Amino acid sequence: MSGSRIEMRLGGTGGQGLLLSAKILADALAAGGKRVAQSQTYEPTSRGGFCNADLVISDAEVDFPLATAIDQLVLLDRLAVKPSWPLLKPGALVIADTRLCPELPAGDYRRYHLPLSRTALELGSERVTNIVALGALVALSGICGREQVEQAVRAEAPRGFLDLNVDALKAGYGLLTQEDGLANSPEPPARPLRDGIYRGAALVAGICQNCKAAYFPKPELCVNCHGDDIKEIELGAECVLFSFTTVHTEAAHSGLPYSIGYVDFPEGVRVFGPLDVEDPSNLRVGMPLRLEIGLMQHDGAGASIIGHRFVAT
Ligand SMILES: [Zn+2]
Repeated sequence: MSGSRIEMRLGGTGGQGLLLSAKILADALAAGGKRVAQSQTYEPTSRGGFCNADLVISDAEVDFPLATAIDQLVLLDRLAVKPSWPLLKPGALVIADTRLCPELPAGDYRRYHLPLSRTALELGSERVTNIVALGALVALSGICGREQVEQAVRAEAPRGFLDLNVDALKAGYGLLTQEDGLANSPEPPARPLRDGIYRGAALVAGICQNCKAAYFPKPELCVNCHGDDIKEIELGAECVLFSFTTVHTEAAHSGLPYSIGYVDFPEGVRVFGPLDVEDPSNLRVGMPLRLEIGLMQHDGAGASIIGHRFVAT
């Protein structure tokens, strides 16, 4: 990874406008010549769970688009703390709302507890908390110029709320009172389920050049013909459900039923993984699914793992 890589997360819950503020910032950074990859992670099993908008920023092409070691973190809800904390880099910048995210774990980071939502309320609407936060983030990180951000806010703000959004951005610039973080050792960054099986948002599979058998993960040897000329391919996101099962017994991580299964990719590869559907009774063999790669939470050991799952389209 290049030395210029910066990873940023806007964390909170759905409906807080985090994706919008991430897009505004991405536009402002792109206007300044940066390369930006945008992604999101969210709690898959319930509504009202955490929702994180991530940006990976670089001077050159972004080689891996998911956040794995966060440099700058904005927290607009306490729900976003747990999934983000394991990814926090030592010395990272953390901006948290005093009311919505009053408590933070100890650690080696720079903490700014700021009245983001209260400032938005005083301006007339809690809905611009995301923009107040954006102003504070830009002021503290110096990641891009204030004029570029203001232009991007003007371009993206909902019609009729332009002045409110620009006021919120400027109010965010003004909210700087530092509290020093406490020294403590941070947890390790997220790692993939297994090295080499993901590239960006794709699964890395292998095709035997002798007999054309396809595999995921890519093997060293073809078990069909014992050939060792295996070519690497990246699978697309579209796949169909081959078989599945839904588990109703209480699992360690959740009391809810969960589904797992095999899916078939058009490249001729069958892959196993968790199925992310709102209602398991809607699962049907042959239904289209979409691959997603993102954080899987592992509550027990505390480490965060990047994994894949299949989502109903
Ligand atoms: Zn073969």
